[in-house]
Amino acid sequence: MTDTPPEDAAERTPLEERLVSLIKLKGPISVADYMADAIGHPHEGYYMAQKAIGAEGDFITAPEVSQVFGELIGLWLLEAWRGMGAPASFNLIELGPGRGVLMEDILRAARLRPDFVRGACLWLLETSGRLRHEQQKRLRASGVKPLWADDLADIPPAPSLIVANEFFDCLPIRQYQYTERGWRERLVGIGADAGGTERLAFTLADAPPAPGIDFPDRAAPGDIFEASPDARDCAAEIADMVSAQGGCALIIDYGHVTSGLGDTLQAVRRHQYWPPLAAPGRADVTAHVDFEALARRAIDHGAAVYGPVTQGRFLESLGLSLRVETLCKDKSPEEAAAVRAGASRIAAPNEMGEIFKALCLSGPNQPAPAGFEGK
Ligand code: SAH
Repeated sequence: MTDTPPEDAAERTPLEERLVSLIKLKGPISVADYMADAIGHPHEGYYMAQKAIGAEGDFITAPEVSQVFGELIGLWLLEAWRGMGAPASFNLIELGPGRGVLMEDILRAARLRPDFVRGACLWLLETSGRLRHEQQKRLRASGVKPLWADDLADIPPAPSLIVANEFFDCLPIRQYQYTERGWRERLVGIGADAGGTERLAFTLADAPPAPGIDFPDRAAPGDIFEASPDARDCAAEIADMVSAQGGCALIIDYGHVTSGLGDTLQAVRRHQYWPPLAAPGRADVTAHVDFEALARRAIDHGAAVYGPVTQGRFLESLGLSLRVETLCKDKSPEEAAAVRAGASRIAAPNEMGEIFKALCLSGPNQPAPAGFEGK
């Protein structure tokens, strides 16, 4: 990913028009409300309207880089299912399945145990109609018929295995900035560009935020603190599910191990960083995941927590190198080089191996999961 300034960031999209009118009427909105509309607005949201994922889209995810990613997660799930006592019927849930590539690879690897595939009730949590359609097409040959849900609460209670890759980074964050007067929420209001046209711009709330936010003890003016009530609620909901019904969740995403200061709101368009308030609906707007906040909330809700460990370490301990060499045996030298390059991209520390982390939230009676040894 490069930082080249975009030539067409000046474009005023239909969603920006809507937001500018709304803000003029009602006042500035939170960064969370902005993010929710920018990616999830039912008509103009990024995931509804754009070809987001893949080489031809705006960004690429680990399952799109290498099939080995999904295959190793498939084997991880088989192991977790055995740890649950191999139930004859269970929920297999994916949060934010994108184009369905990860689930396709998971189900191919899981064919080792036909009773796993037979017993899986596959639920996909997806807001985008466009992506639901792609998921349906891609999974047609898998032998498992997916069901779609808008919310975890809509899924009937049963022991559950849950996977979420690059889902939590999409959940809206609120931002707060430290000022001479103390903490103030950072909001999206209206400014003007060089030509005098009204554009979205950051501003600060006049009043201090309501109590109840766990601000760090020390901050300097200008520092930003982020909190994602949606992400924490989702971790709590998962923890409730696996504590009551059994099972576990594997959460993989980019983010930080401990909560702290820092502005991580980012946008990406055509594989380049993009100004987060420019052309809403045309760029993917996300934030780094605060793994400590997720883990804390899950523990409060009765789950056992493993990790986070870096993605590179997680995949290596699941046998990445071995699997790659096995795959390369029947390949031409060019194909083998491509397989190795893909594996290196998802696991190398200077690529996706370090910034991405894996976290497991598990039911209290579940054995320790593979890949988190020593944590
Ligand atoms: N897991 C996939 C795709 C990641 S992109 C992969 O690894 O390739 C994020 C996915 O989450 C998209 O499918 C997007 O439509 C979905 N998504 C984003 N916010 C969501 C929400 N609030 N509820 C359900 N799905 C959401």
